[in-house]
Amino acid sequence: MTGQIAVVTGGGRGIGKSIAEALAKKSINLVIVGTNYEVAAETSFNLQRLGIKSIAVKADVSNSSDVKNLFDTTLNEFGRVDILVNNAGITRDALIIRMKDEDWDKVININLKGTFLCCKEAVKIMMKQKYGRIINISSIVGFMGNIGQANYSASKAGIAGLTKSIAKEYANRGITVNAVAPGFITTAMTETIPDNIKNEMLRAIPMSRFGTPDDVANAVVFLASPDAGYITGQILHVNGGMYM
Ligand code: NAP
Repeated sequence: MTGQIAVVTGGGRGIGKSIAEALAKKSINLVIVGTNYEVAAETSFNLQRLGIKSIAVKADVSNSSDVKNLFDTTLNEFGRVDILVNNAGITRDALIIRMKDEDWDKVININLKGTFLCCKEAVKIMMKQKYGRIINISSIVGFMGNIGQANYSASKAGIAGLTKSIAKEYANRGITVNAVAPGFITTAMTETIPDNIKNEMLRAIPMSRFGTPDDVANAVVFLASPDAGYITGQILHVNGGMYM
């Protein structure tokens, strides 16, 4: 994997940052993507200390011209894209009767349409290379559902269908497309969940601990590696046994 090029959306912080670090430790060069350029740039700068090339690109994954610019910039800088990790994601939680239309649209647009737009641009490049690895970050709630997360659960279930369809379309072009579905992972996204809910979730995890961003990163690195070359269209659940 040495010298390969990976694009990690939302790579500046949280799970995406751990994924970027784990790929960098495999000597993979990185494109760190986010809407907050300063955060992406800081992570990118720190990754260069691991001896790889890394750039930050400001892009909103739900905006098709931003996504086109992201892949044009990547091609100009590195000439290819070996790995795409669609990790950017947001939540806008509310019970469905109180869920605002704009919160439905925003979550679907960033989590699901953003994954679609990045896959579309990456596949065009990967087809020419006859090689590529796409890993989409889904979620346990896309499979179990969750109170207050109709928009988020739908976006993450949608990612599973999207992943399987693209996997079938390009399996004979050397491109594998898989998803990782994390359970409860400790990051900024989950920090706001009230303690009583967190304790309830902990009781539902057979391994009796929340996951770490590194737990997710390790699964992504495996799916991005040559060892996973015969695996496509799969959802790898990383959840301590919470859903099986
Ligand atoms: P996080 O700490 O909130 O980070 C979210 C990342 O997404 C940030 O880097 C953010 O960068 C980026 N992002 C948000 N909107 C974007 C946009 N429109 N365009 C480009 N980048 C955007 O979240 P996390 O917990 O690390 O979650 C990462 C992924 O794992 C998400 O897809 C999430 O749904 C999934 N997941 C998380 C958990 C969990 O328990 N934490 C469980 C299951 C799945 P900017 O702020 O720079 O835009």
